[in-house]
Amino acid sequence: AAPVLSVKDLRVHYTAESGNVTAVDGVSFDIGAGEVFGLAGESGCGKSTIANAVMRLLQSPAEITGGSIELNGRNLLALGDEELRRTRWRDVAMVFQSAMNSLNPVMTIGDQIVDVFTTHERMPKKAARERAAELLKLVDISPDRLKSYPHQLSGGMRQRAVIAIALALKPSLLIMDEPTTALDVVVQQEIMHQIKELQQELGFSILFITHDISLMVELSHRMAVMYAGRLVEVAPSKDMLGNPLHPYTNALMGAFPPLSGPRVELTGIPDAPPNMAHPPTGCRFHPRCPLAVDACRSTEPPLLQVAARHDAACLLVSEQAVPSERSSR
Ligand code: SF4
Ligand code: MG
Repeated sequence: AAPVLSVKDLRVHYTAESGNVTAVDGVSFDIGAGEVFGLAGESGCGKSTIANAVMRLLQSPAEITGGSIELNGRNLLALGDEELRRTRWRDVAMVFQSAMNSLNPVMTIGDQIVDVFTTHERMPKKAARERAAELLKLVDISPDRLKSYPHQLSGGMRQRAVIAIALALKPSLLIMDEPTTALDVVVQQEIMHQIKELQQELGFSILFITHDISLMVELSHRMAVMYAGRLVEVAPSKDMLGNPLHPYTNALMGAFPPLSGPRVELTGIPDAPPNMAHPPTGCRFHPRCPLAVDACRSTEPPLLQVAARHDAACLLVSEQAVPSERSSR
């Protein structure tokens, strides 16, 4: 089946005080219909930049300098402002970390949802109210709350209301960038499991970004690990957990306890990620890699298919590899 999202050789640059930064450097991946795809990696590795690029929300000085992003076969990079406005929410919607603060404080939750329907679908007010009530029920909020203002809701409820708004126009792709990080851990897990149920019911695809690797492995079908602007490993999440092939993934996986244990962030790897204005030569992970050999300093490992549906970018694991087929779902 054709992918819902197809990102090919995406490049994003920006100019910082420290120099020219390639925040995303030749990233390719597909997300299938109904697939939950996770994107993992430490802060600053380019995950959010990819999310914002797909939403076409990158702001100057960040700029897409190469590659393509297709959503349901349409090139998002070729859309004009008006087409973009229609595509956002209707075809692709995003929930980000501080989204619960993006609600309008002086409008009721109901009016804000009704607004989405009347603006984007020219739906009559009465029908829009009914749909708004249904939507709130979908995320376990009582329709009585239509009359509430954001400050009258808990943080978790506000975030669920934002998710309801994101799903209002039935997008085929929902992007979630640290969607629950600002919330209490128990509430985070509740909300994410609820989204997973909704996803199974409604069939939309998800691009899921989180620091919480345990949650990602649990909720996503496939995932990619990103390091310093590049994908270093892509595999079904269970394989990523059970058989990580890239030393960086190994470190990430080793840095968190079993699924049933307490959740931790990705802080277990010594040293910091590189300064992206001056990334290391060869394999960008070599200064931190326990397995690095001489060749790693000079040879850039390409992302290659190393097992069924399993790609990795490491000189040590790719000796027998064949070039990656990105459609290897
Ligand atoms: Fe480590 Fe070398 Fe593999 Fe990079 S290519 S991850 S430095 S072993
Ligand atoms: Mg981020």
